[in-house]
Amino acid sequence: MDIEKYKQLINELKTSGAQLIAVSKTKPAEDILEVYKAGQKMFGENKVQEMATKFETLPKDIEWHMIGHLQSNKVKYIAGFVSLIHSVDSLKLLQEINRQAQKNNRVINCLLQVFIAKEETKFGLSPEELSHLLQSREYLALKNIRISGLMAMASNTDDEEQINNEFAGLRSTFNHIKATHFAQDASFKELSIGMSSDYKIALKHGATLIRVGSLIFGHR
Ligand SMILES: *Cc1c(COP(=O)(O)O)cnc(C)c1O
Repeated sequence: MDIEKYKQLINELKTSGAQLIAVSKTKPAEDILEVYKAGQKMFGENKVQEMATKFETLPKDIEWHMIGHLQSNKVKYIAGFVSLIHSVDSLKLLQEINRQAQKNNRVINCLLQVFIAKEETKFGLSPEELSHLLQSREYLALKNIRISGLMAMASNTDDEEQINNEFAGLRSTFNHIKATHFAQDASFKELSIGMSSDYKIALKHGATLIRVGSLIFGHR
């Protein structure tokens, strides 16, 4: 846990306009409270049960962001309180989020996760699948979800050139999707890219949300 690093990061973000999601997965409530007291309100988790437990015990004005792969049968445990789901990668998942949002009488903000990495371990839709989903009648019928942008993870590599290329590709996909499907919709605006190792590159490509964990909380 490094509050000085946190403060430096917040300073660095001031000129960019991007917001920080502090990724607190595996970290205890005390660590989260320390960053919260320094002014942080948005935290990211990748496991449903862990996020639900932390929601129960921590201050209620924290915004909880689901950043990990989400199974449809677990949406119900977070639907009442989740602030933004970054990791939506199928129509089926989106339909279940919509169903649970309806039960909770709310609209749930979602990002569509795009596959940009050269690793098969990462999740996400291709740009073609993205367009296909957004044109489908099933998607257009959903009233309790709002697509507020795109999320992606770059390859886990030291090759900055490659990360640059992956983020640049995503940026152009974002522009295309925005112009084609959300031209009249100001709520489609978020680009969730960048982690501890590559957030500086992400900021150059127009990240609006960066998801940083280990830089602040230390290694997991
Ligand atoms: C863990 C995680 C992060 C944060 O990674 P760090 O390297 O600790 O900054 C960001 N995004 C996702 C999807 C993650 O799972």
